[in-house]
Amino acid sequence: MRMVDLICQKKSGEALSKAQIDYFVQGYTNGEIPDYQASALLMAIVFMSMTYEETANLTMAMACTGEILDLSEIPGIKVDKHSTGGVGDKTTLVCAPIVAACGGKMAKMSGRGLGHTGGTIDKLESIPGFKTSLTTQEFIYNVNKSGLCITGQTGTIAPADKKMYALRDVTGTVESIPLIASSIMSKKIASGADAIVLDVKVGKGAFMKDITSAKQLAQTMIAIGELVGKKTVAVISDMDEPLGYAIGNSIEVIEAIETLKGNGPKDLTELSYTISSIMLELSGIGDRTTNVSLCKNAITSGLAIKKLSEMINQQGGNPNVINDYSLLGSPKFVFKYKAPKAGTIFSIDSLSIGKAACVLGAGRIKKGDNIDLTVGIKLFKKTGDSILEGDVIAELYSYKDNFDDALNELTSAWHIESDSKPKDLDLIFEVIG
Ligand code: URA
Repeated sequence: MRMVDLICQKKSGEALSKAQIDYFVQGYTNGEIPDYQASALLMAIVFMSMTYEETANLTMAMACTGEILDLSEIPGIKVDKHSTGGVGDKTTLVCAPIVAACGGKMAKMSGRGLGHTGGTIDKLESIPGFKTSLTTQEFIYNVNKSGLCITGQTGTIAPADKKMYALRDVTGTVESIPLIASSIMSKKIASGADAIVLDVKVGKGAFMKDITSAKQLAQTMIAIGELVGKKTVAVISDMDEPLGYAIGNSIEVIEAIETLKGNGPKDLTELSYTISSIMLELSGIGDRTTNVSLCKNAITSGLAIKKLSEMINQQGGNPNVINDYSLLGSPKFVFKYKAPKAGTIFSIDSLSIGKAACVLGAGRIKKGDNIDLTVGIKLFKKTGDSILEGDVIAELYSYKDNFDDALNELTSAWHIESDSKPKDLDLIFEVIG
């Protein structure tokens, strides 16, 4: 088989066979196929897509490049969640402690930032000492001990995805239903949880820009989940504007902690309750409607924040960050972004905000780039808020005293109208499964 033939075949819209997909996935993972040929095939897939059968074959080929975790030493149902990627999306950091506080078992493998979207592992690494690379035994031990553990994708879990994810991040090949579905589901299959809640983001800052493609992505992933006997539910949620007010790594950790203390933004709190309630239902605890009050109690009783502290401690981090945010470090330079006119905020373009945060150093521009965990963007106003000309509507945090590139990304991020009000935003469009 020759890689160039697979590229040409996909470029002309023909389906690849299982043998061809196995050849590509194995060859790229073991280094026989170079990045440039893999990028060309990925780009052809972005343009020509894949059939459901190709996507399922790609998923299984990727999952089988590494270890398939056996979590049977953890009694009961292990539940996992995964977001398709958003701006300001720190939901995992809120849901994991809530679920564990309510008696669920959260065994979660998370990823790093991708494109303009953030990743849970980068966020957790802003906590001093926090270990995101655990052995399987440590992972199992932690879930058994405290009901939760979030670890990075080790080299042994779907190594094909690890390599392809980093390549897609820097070659403009993220936005594709088969590539996103296989990336997510290969990891979920390999990481051993019994049930999965998928948060499928839709809108300007998501990889899926419209509800039809978000539903298609959700249904593809649910079908793959069912194929391998995992209970899978998808929540389709809004990503037109950033979730919460903080976009960056350490500042998102602070917002998640505040949410677990009961002071979170409305959108993040509501989404976290919805996802946690479904995770608990899939764990065999209650039903998703009544579980919402269980989740609220976990916050008001302080049990959820206690679980976060246990998790941080267990993974070598300093749990004092929960009460002392200065331990997370602070950015060197701050730029106050002022409203150019008075009126009402009609929309905040999460794609521009995500790209600007990336340019400030919160995300990677090329493979392997170092990121700065303290930089990012903090919003002070959201859609529907009234503002006066000159009000500070956001702060930009950077490690260098030059905000020009980020400001260029932000030129049309805010849409402000002087004499009308926007309609209320929907946060959750649909729950499938
Ligand atoms: N999250 C993933 O794990 N993979 C993708 O491709 C997109 C979001």
